[in-house]
Amino acid sequence: MSIKSTMMDYPLTLSTLVERLKTYYPRVEVVSRLPDKTLHRTHYLDIHKRTKRLASALTKRGVKKGEGVATLMWNHYGHLEAYLGVPIMGGVLHTVNLRLSPKDIAYIINHAGDKVLIIDDILLPLYEQFKDDVALDEVIVVPLTGEKVNSEYTDYEDYLKLGDDDFSYPIIDENDAAGMCYTSGTTGRPKGVVYSHRSTVLHAMAEAMVDTLGVSQSDVVTPVVPMFHANAWGLSYTSVLVGAKQALPGPHLDAESLMDLYQSEQVTLSAGVPTIWMAIKTAREAEPNRWKTAPNMRMVVGGAAVPESLFRAFDKFDMTIIQAWGMTETGPLATVGIVKESLSDLDEDAKYACRIKQGLTLPFIDIRIVDEEGVELPWDGKTSGNAELKGPWVTAAYHKNEGAEDSFSEDGWLKTGDVCQIDQEGYVKLTDRTKDLVKSGGEWISSVDLENAIMGHPDVLEAAVIAVAHPKWDERPLAVVVVKEDKQITTDDIRQFLDGKFTKMWLPDAVEVIAEIPKTSTGKFMKMALREQYKNWVWE
Ligand code: ADP
Repeated sequence: MSIKSTMMDYPLTLSTLVERLKTYYPRVEVVSRLPDKTLHRTHYLDIHKRTKRLASALTKRGVKKGEGVATLMWNHYGHLEAYLGVPIMGGVLHTVNLRLSPKDIAYIINHAGDKVLIIDDILLPLYEQFKDDVALDEVIVVPLTGEKVNSEYTDYEDYLKLGDDDFSYPIIDENDAAGMCYTSGTTGRPKGVVYSHRSTVLHAMAEAMVDTLGVSQSDVVTPVVPMFHANAWGLSYTSVLVGAKQALPGPHLDAESLMDLYQSEQVTLSAGVPTIWMAIKTAREAEPNRWKTAPNMRMVVGGAAVPESLFRAFDKFDMTIIQAWGMTETGPLATVGIVKESLSDLDEDAKYACRIKQGLTLPFIDIRIVDEEGVELPWDGKTSGNAELKGPWVTAAYHKNEGAEDSFSEDGWLKTGDVCQIDQEGYVKLTDRTKDLVKSGGEWISSVDLENAIMGHPDVLEAAVIAVAHPKWDERPLAVVVVKEDKQITTDDIRQFLDGKFTKMWLPDAVEVIAEIPKTSTGKFMKMALREQYKNWVWE
């Protein structure tokens, strides 16, 4: 007779997280910066109560299991309540990126088939631009400004009053849909990724591990990454799971507002794309004594490659950058760039070389690199290949099965579209996005490596390297840079600065100085727009 497991089949669902708020963390604060910049303060007991009321009200108003509830909201208590309240009643929280065009927002809401929209009052002008293109049963408005909500919409506070305090959780399977998020479409049309309760819970547990982001009860967490982008990298759920205080920035994402929030709430962990940290670096360097942040604050930086100069600068401010790599399709966390204990003897420069890599995969995330034919490549730290992932919080398809042909291998791995190397220690190093690589004379040049190095130049604020067609070499790298105020820079300056760091063949043939690098809706460099802008470039 074979031995069978005697363990319970206990579902991993979000209601467990909601109940823990009341049982263990009732007095832990949730602070939100409102549009008028004042701070709204509440605590998890109240969030618990309002979350259940929201779940109850949605149920009473006819939202059914598996139906989408869209949100158009900044990061604040109301969004957190929707994060929890929608999935626990069986609904699917669809966080919509408010920086998309009204046309794209309508497309996404229709594509997901959302029935209800919860929206910040300050975003109503955006809704008005697409309301004729969507068919929603109800629009619920969160009165962040305190002004009375127009009677054609439902006031969120009134909506909560419809709900009961003793909402009883429906039976939910851990594999039921909990949330959905569309890819930001940096490289194509947005596609819907649908997270399950199970994937969300497991992602939160993995993110809390000491050797990943180590989120704990003693943290004060500020996701600068929007809650409409890849679930704020999971930090809302992870903070709830462990009972960490949250300090949410609302619509104020400029460096000064963020630094003020970090100081007033003594934030210990924050997260966002590199452009946010570049702005903070400039602000801190301009006024080194203005702010006092919590000792050894950690900042999770990802979404785009992080230049070494940023790690070094923040170490001086006692703010430690932890790099993370992932995508909407992967929960989103796939790797975290920690230095392994067995490498702790490395000298300082080698440690930075390790930290600028995207890092080690989280437990249960499998990775492989493959060539164009799908043949697996070695982990020797030199061979680049297309990275493919598998894991419990990696999507196996897109909503309505769109885009499947390009995105998944025949044996079921997710094709990330990122070109990576993996070394023998297991460190993943992203060399480029497949679409951003510069193919010059049969060789692949990593735009990411060049950008990182150029951003180390003391007079450079931002740099993006793009491939531009070349009559002899096929493509050559063009560097587009933004320089610091009152500074000037030439192609020769940059080439000299890079000399010795790369082979001659890699050095950009031209450097263009511009006022600002165009950014995507999630704050990444929009290289597609730059390629378009420079497509008729003539090499001298
Ligand atoms: P989009 O694909 O529209 O940009 P995502 O936010 O899902 O939307 O972005 C995922 C992509 O972001 C990854 O495939 C990768 O190219 C890039 N990325 C994420 N984290 C990092 C990182 N730490 N370093 C470099 N690139 C990163």
